[in-house]
Amino acid sequence: MKIAVLGTGYVGLVTGAGLAEFGHSVIGADKMTEKIEKISKGEIPIYEPGLDELLRANMKRGRISFSSDLHKTIQAADVIFACVGTPQGDDGSADMSQIEEVSRLIAENLNGYKVIVEKSTVPVKTSHWIKRTISLYKKSDQEFDVASNPEFLREGSAVADFLNPDRIIIGVESDRARDMLVKIYDKVRDRIVITNIDTAELIKHASNSFLAMKISYINLMANLCEKTDADIEQVAKGMGLDPRIGGLFLKAGLGFGGSCFPKDLKALIKIGEDLGVDMNLLKETDLINSGRARLFLDKLKKALWILKEKKIAILGLSFKPETDDIREAPSIRLIRELLGEGAILRLYDPEAQNNMKELFPEDKTRITYCSTSYEAAACANALLICTEWKEFVEMDLRKVKALMANPIIVDGRNIFEPADVRKLGFEYYSLGRK
Ligand code: NAD
Repeated sequence: MKIAVLGTGYVGLVTGAGLAEFGHSVIGADKMTEKIEKISKGEIPIYEPGLDELLRANMKRGRISFSSDLHKTIQAADVIFACVGTPQGDDGSADMSQIEEVSRLIAENLNGYKVIVEKSTVPVKTSHWIKRTISLYKKSDQEFDVASNPEFLREGSAVADFLNPDRIIIGVESDRARDMLVKIYDKVRDRIVITNIDTAELIKHASNSFLAMKISYINLMANLCEKTDADIEQVAKGMGLDPRIGGLFLKAGLGFGGSCFPKDLKALIKIGEDLGVDMNLLKETDLINSGRARLFLDKLKKALWILKEKKIAILGLSFKPETDDIREAPSIRLIRELLGEGAILRLYDPEAQNNMKELFPEDKTRITYCSTSYEAAACANALLICTEWKEFVEMDLRKVKALMANPIIVDGRNIFEPADVRKLGFEYYSLGRK
């Protein structure tokens, strides 16, 4: 079986490398020629722990190669994984134009039976549209099947998640497609769950929205803690010990960001509304999340009163640790608002600076990108923590205090013990605890 992976972003690269590691012959293709040229030379365009090594090893073994010739790649493949983007559209729904583009390309190049696998996160019923598009545009009477195999990898641990998944959801409507996909995932066969296609598509949106809801729920509880003597970290611990609840995704903070939760939540709200289902539960989840940045900035203002011309250090620009991805990162909103207030920003992130520079170019009077946390802290009137990178947790706070103009920390991820930091002489604000 020859496998094509269309789209070499976070999901496509990991999927391609992972399937090659499972022993398959894979071609990764993308319409961005420059990207493919770089990857073919072994230059991996994203930061994802372990991905470089896995890709290079499998390229060396001859199991994976890359091409910008989408036509040839499709023609050569028996199974095609569509890993293109499904970004948020203007009305909140998923913008499906990349999926449509790929479907037409597949139709044009359908030179034999193929299974087209939706790896991208897509609204329930998308398979219907892919089938219709391919049928409308195909030039031959070759047969094909569409299948859904949503991806659950988490950026930052994507390689391990792909190679050792909790579950592999396979939505199919033919035995032929099912058998081919089961063979592809033979190495982790015990984790396969077979469903119909609508179910598989919905499992992905339902999972992401549930996790988003869990985060907004604990943030709502954090708001209650702020008005009482309760401590959100202890509330979360006490709740999480109940196995029906579980301790994961109960971390109060700046809220969720990234390329998945915000857009998938909005997409599911739109899907439900279009189908006439009341989606208020998820709308509130979204609303609570979008209020986090304001609440955080209010704390900063409480400490500094006027932000104009104040030097603010921001540590952590990516939406979470161990990734360079800044899509929908809470730091973006904070940077915008702080610039709007006239603050002078000193930014630092171990991996995401280059991506952030594209959005907010360096401008020595307003925005400086620093090479360490300490450099960012130097002469700052306050230090904001937006991502819980391990190196921030392990900072030498005595050194930080000596460098800062005012020893004020506003911690959006609750990474420090309030008593410890205050003992060192900091004014310390965090979320949901005194
Ligand atoms: P991405 O933007 O990093 O990558 C998408 C790639 O597709 C880009 O390289 C783009 O050039 C390419 N592309 C677009 N149109 C194309 C076409 N017609 N032909 C060939 N290539 C084309 O996106 P991503 O983060 O990898 O996400 C891809 C999908 O997977 C989305 O639906 C996303 O919701 C889903 N997903 C993402 C994650 C994650 O953590 N990033 C996890 C699970 C699922």
